[in-house]
Amino acid sequence: MDTPFAIEATDLVKTYGTGPTAVRALDHASLGIRRGRFTAIMGPSGSGKSTMMHAMAGLDTVDSGSILLGGVELVGMTERERTLLRRTRVGFIFQQYNLVPALTAEENIALPLRLAGQKVDKDWVRELTATLGIVDRLTHRPAELSGGQQQRVAVARALVTRPEVAFADEPTGALDSHSSRALLAFLRRAANEFGQTIVMVTHDASAAGHADRVEFLSDGRVVDGHDNPTAATVLASMARFDAAREEVAA
Ligand code: ADP
Repeated sequence: MDTPFAIEATDLVKTYGTGPTAVRALDHASLGIRRGRFTAIMGPSGSGKSTMMHAMAGLDTVDSGSILLGGVELVGMTERERTLLRRTRVGFIFQQYNLVPALTAEENIALPLRLAGQKVDKDWVRELTATLGIVDRLTHRPAELSGGQQQRVAVARALVTRPEVAFADEPTGALDSHSSRALLAFLRRAANEFGQTIVMVTHDASAAGHADRVEFLSDGRVVDGHDNPTAATVLASMARFDAAREEVAA
């Protein structure tokens, strides 16, 4: 059956540690990520955003629940199966760009394909790098690129395999406001023009305002979400949760 979701995460539970010091990072969290859309995940520090993202990306395991990524069940996979899945079906855009210093921009971009033993689609690389405005930087090594250019190389590398989902973890955290806006605009275009599914974890309301949808985590659960967020609607939702949490705590 065809589903509009690139990821369907259902009833995820994840506990770190045991006994009295155990922390339940995911407490029956469920979330659907729509295919071809740009989704932001927000929530206070410690609400489970990273744990949720790592689980959905096959980087880490959960105790129970189900995660369908492009219809494939991740829960119960072996480490090796998850590694293969990550190489071919998932892209990552980290705050630390993790570019290989000894390789040129072009070699960095092609690296995921080489690791997966796949051919480089030159037309796709040309389109990606042209859209990102780094065509004239492809022979440079990371040390010869600005922060914003390195980030764009990292984005091209994340999308070069045409992954089922590209995950971005606080991607604008280390960028100046101009580079941040450019990156967020590109993530939007990747969804709109290439049909790329994007999941971005952020604590920045204005960054979330670029997404098609925002989901909110609190205490290990997805507690709310809305379409077409703006910085203002995101801030209003967060203020509502803070008030509700304070009421519970009082
Ligand atoms: P967020 O990304 O929203 O800040 P996390 O997913 O990092 O939240 O963390 C959720 C909860 O799990 C927090 O209470 C955190 O302290 C705890 N946690 C995360 N990773 C670990 C770990 N490796 N060991 C123990 N506790 C952890």
